[in-house]
This record gives sequence, structure tokens and C-alpha cells, in this order.
Amino acid sequence: MFERPYIVGNWKMHGTRAMLSEARAIDRGAERLMKVEVALAPPFTLIHATRKEAGLIGVGAQDCHPAEGGAHTGDISAAMLKDSGAGFVIVGHSERRADHGETDADVKAKAEAALAVGLNAIVCVGETEADRDAGKAEAVVARQLDGSLPQGESAAAKVTVAYEPVWAIGTGRTPTVEDIGAMHCAIRQRLNAIYGEDGAAIRILYGGSVKPENAAELLGADEVGGALVGGASLTAESFLGIVAAAHEALEA
Ligand code: PEP
Repeated sequence: MFERPYIVGNWKMHGTRAMLSEARAIDRGAERLMKVEVALAPPFTLIHATRKEAGLIGVGAQDCHPAEGGAHTGDISAAMLKDSGAGFVIVGHSERRADHGETDADVKAKAEAALAVGLNAIVCVGETEADRDAGKAEAVVARQLDGSLPQGESAAAKVTVAYEPVWAIGTGRTPTVEDIGAMHCAIRQRLNAIYGEDGAAIRILYGGSVKPENAAELLGADEVGGALVGGASLTAESFLGIVAAAHEALEA
């Protein structure tokens, strides 16, 4: 595992102000587990309040529009996210790729828009079950990386990659530790090819049905620098269980 693992909670379309108590509890818990970098991506409507309530952890968004502004009803620009207190944005989540038809080029444009205003970007990639069954998982992920990662000066320093096999998201199923390690090593090679020596420092998160019970095992796979967590990030109890597992793994 990386020196300081990064555990990010993606609240998806969950949460009203009543859930800020969970964010506060996560923030307080993270204070005891400082070897781990902890962050939450609540829905847009809670970013500002989460930033105010949780002073220690990172706070980010789940998407942004690639344009600086304009006639895009219902969309949010990267600059607006920054203004509301976000420090990063997740782009290319498989639910956005599927629900909104986002292409690799769209994801790259969003990531570059984020970096342009000083946000960090978590770029998600991952194969479908059909891709894996057809033996195409690594090729699909390599193509997504080539098409989705932002370019430009010091881009690598602001990017995190999240490997999330689509079939593992919210299903309770996970790849084996060996399969995760193999994919993360393949991603590392691709990052080195894309960014040169800067590729070595990019954290690669695993995402897909991470829970307190399996976190230590999954985080122990080769080249895993942390986790992107959906369902298990919705309560402080389960999310802090994952953070604690990462913390303990570093102490072991
Ligand atoms: C996610 O959607 O990013 C995710 C990993 O979800 P879950 O942890 O619920 O599988």
C-alpha cells in the first residue's frame, strides 16, 4: 500500500442536511486515523455545508461540466465547485458513463476543466462483466486511461485514478486480490507510459463493494493506494471501519 492511503467516500445521490451529522462524525474519526487521507464527495447540494462542518477531511464533487459557464441548464462548472468549497472532483464514474453517455473524451475535458481551476481530479475507469469474460478487461481499461486522463503541465500531480470494475459496484462482488493487483500493475505501466516518471506517484484507488470486512485484504493488493467507496461511505460507522482497516494495515 502507498505511504498515505487515500480513502474517498462517494455518496452518489444520497444525502440531505440530516446526513451532515455523519460527515461530522467521519471528520472526528479521521482525526484519530491521520495516517490515512480521508475525503467525501457528497451531492452538489451538500458540498458547502460539508466543507463547513468537516474541517479536516477532503471534500469534493461527483461530476462537473467541462465548460467554464454558459447555457447548460442544471449543470455545474468546476469553478462553481471550487467556490462552494470542493478540493477535487470525481469524473468518469461508470454510472455517469452509462446514465449520461459520457465518452472518454468527455471525461478528459471534465478533468482538464477541473485542473484548470485548481481542483484535483479522480478519474474512474473499469471494465464491464462482459469485457472481463471476453478477456478484454486490461485492454478496455488501457483505452479508457488513454482517452480520459488529462494532459498538460503538472497534470499527473493532480490526478488520482480509481479502478472500479462495473460489475463490482454495489453488488457485493469483488475481484480476487490477484486480479486487482494485476489490473493495478497494468494501470501503473500505462500511467508511466502516459506521464513518464511522474506516473509513478499517482495513487490508484480500488472501488467496488469495499466494506470494513474486506478492506484490509483488498487494500493489500499490489499497487493499491486506497479505495473509492460507495454504499459503505454513507454511515460514519462503516466508512470509519474502512479507514481504520487502512490505518491498521500501515501499522502491521
Ligand atoms: C462507487 O460507486 O464508486 C462504488 C465503489 O460503490 P460501492 O462501494 O457501493 O460498490
